[in-house]
Parts: sequence; C-alpha cells; structure tokens
Amino acid sequence: MPYTITPGDPISALDTPSMLVDLDLMETNITSLMTQLLPTGISIRPHSKTTKSAILAQKLISAGAKGACVAKLSEAEVMCAKGVTDLLITCEIIGAAKVKRLVELWKEFRDVKVVVDSEVGARAIDEAVQESGVGERMKVLLDLDVGLHRTGCQPGDAALALARTVAECQNLELIGVQGYEGHLQHVHGVEERKKACLESMKILVETAEALRRDGHAIRVVTTGGTGTAEFCVTVPGVTEVQPGSFLFMDTDYRNAVGTKYSNSLTILSTVISKQGPKSVTIDAGLKSLTTDSGLAECKTAGYEYGVLGDEHGSLSWTDGADLKVGDRVEMIPSHIDPTINLHDFYYAHRKGVIEAIWPVDARGKVQ
Ligand code: PLP
Ligand code: MN
Repeated sequence: MPYTITPGDPISALDTPSMLVDLDLMETNITSLMTQLLPTGISIRPHSKTTKSAILAQKLISAGAKGACVAKLSEAEVMCAKGVTDLLITCEIIGAAKVKRLVELWKEFRDVKVVVDSEVGARAIDEAVQESGVGERMKVLLDLDVGLHRTGCQPGDAALALARTVAECQNLELIGVQGYEGHLQHVHGVEERKKACLESMKILVETAEALRRDGHAIRVVTTGGTGTAEFCVTVPGVTEVQPGSFLFMDTDYRNAVGTKYSNSLTILSTVISKQGPKSVTIDAGLKSLTTDSGLAECKTAGYEYGVLGDEHGSLSWTDGADLKVGDRVEMIPSHIDPTINLHDFYYAHRKGVIEAIWPVDARGKVQ
C-alpha cells in the first residue's frame, strides 16, 4: 500500500519529516504585508526564492503582488511553465549556457526581466538576443551595490558607464535599477535597521536620478526584503519591493524583526529514540533543517535542539514534560529559504486538517 495523503486527512496521518504550513498564520502574514504596503502604491514583487512554488507565487499575485522575483534562471523556467510569467531574475546571468537558456525562455515569455552588473554580462545577452532574430529588446535592470557587496556595480561613475553601455546595446532596454540591501535585513532593532536602510535607499534613488539625468528612462527602482520593505516604501523614487521570507518567517528573522509576521512553517518530526532521561532523538537532522543561521527551535518551548548528523537531531530539556518514542514535534527552521529547498512538498493545514499539498516546484533549481 503506497503512502498517500489527501486533503481532509489530519496531520497525524503524515509521515515525517514533513513540511507543514499553518494556513491561518500564512494568510495573516500575507494580509499584514499587503495591508501595510499596497496602499503606498509601490509594487510588491515577492521573492520566490523562498517558496520555489508557483502556487504560492500565484496566491501572492491574487493578493495584490505584481508578478514575482526569482533568484535563478532555472527557477524562472519552472515558474513560466506553471503560468507565472511576470518575472524578475535577481541574480546575474553569466556564461554561454545560461545566456542561451535565458534567450530561449525569453523568446516565449517576454515578461522575463534580468539584471546586469557588468559590460561582459550585458554584451553577451545583447548578442544572444540579436542572434535570436526576435527583433525585440529584452528588458534589463542595472544591478547596483547599495552596501551588500555581493553583486551590483558601484554607484557614481561606474553606474553611469554601465548604463551607457547597456543603452548602446541595440537589443537591450534599460528599464530600471535594482539595489538590494541584503546586509540590513537582519539588523536588530527597528530604528537601527531603518536608519541603515534609508542610507542604502539614498544611494539607490540618487543613482536612479543620475541615470535619468543622463537620458535613461528609468521606470523601475526595485529593492527591499522582509526586514526593510516597510522603510523602502516610504522613500520617494522607490517603485517596487521584493520581500520573500515574510510568508513563513524563521527564527533568525523573528529574532531580528520581531513578531510582525508569524512563523507559519514548521518541520513535523518524530521522536525515534530515547537517549537518556531528558534527551530524545528526532528524525530531523541536516537534511531536513539547515543550520547556517543557527539551530532550529522546537515550537513547544522548553526543548533544545541539537544536530546529530544528516538524519538525526536531539531534543533535550530540563523541566519540560518527558518526550517518548513515537511523540511528534514541530520544529521552526532557523533559515527558511534553504530549508524549503530540502523538501518536496508543503502540507498546508488549517487547525490540523490538511487542506492542500503544494509541490516545491523549483526545488534544487540552483542554475
Ligand atoms: N531580493 C533579493 C535580491 C534577495 O536576494 C532576497 C533574499 O535573499 C530578497 C529580495 C528577499 O529577502 P527576504 O527573504 O529576506 O524577504
Ligand atoms: Mn534567506
């Protein structure tokens, strides 16, 4: 008898580890973000690098989002195939194989937009579009370093020079600037995060203005994540924000941003062994929960998680109720995006009854 789960089943019917979504909490997160940000008139382009799910991207569009961001070309391919086609790919497309694939995708889906931060990158895409013979220009945003020092050209002369290069490319249309302040998303304290964010936004909007003065029709100024979107939208000149993690949150974000959004995703695990009077082993290790941003937390307070390898974790306690073999626990991930990428399905439930099963469509799509 194969293992099947269908909507209407209780979560107790799930095998473990399984990725659970509390729909009431997730929907509240969406409503909170949309009610705060939509009235500003700024576009919301949620980042699908978090969910890797076309169904969830579509849900966010239904709630008011303008398309989606994806990190990678291979995620864009998945999203387009599933009908989410107004996309911004936020990582640079570099290398012959990727450029070829990009143009193949764009031939079919013209709403796919890309960022560039180098002349080499821009010219390669320009040539490939030329060779495609489509006769239209691909929409491109200049990626600007606003302090993260990850990608992006430097503001000032470098940005102007690159914009001129892109403008020279007959097959590219420079429509905007992306400046993602990822280094500020987890700054603790609202005032500290706001202050640093506004400094980054100054670099971004001033660069956009400088490019306009130089004759470029900059229409899109896109930035922001879960930790900063509320500040970005107050800055005249910003047109779009890209939050992703707000949908599910994680312990790292909760520690920095607080409880403005709820932890709506957990990894359901089973106690498989007792290892002492106040310690058990669960079936969730490194292959179920990532550790780059600290250790996951048990949703029930009082139990401390430890990694016991690829497949195992420990839970220990001092005065919590004893856990025994067969008990189930829900673990809150410490970093949501790479944790989701470890799982095949979301099991979305309301008050313990499964309502939907969503595939992690772009799982493993890192190219
Ligand atoms: N935009 C870009 C370019 C990103 O890389 C990310 C996340 O890393 C986001 C937006 C979304 O940020 P968050 O998940 O923190 O909301
Ligand atoms: Mn992340």
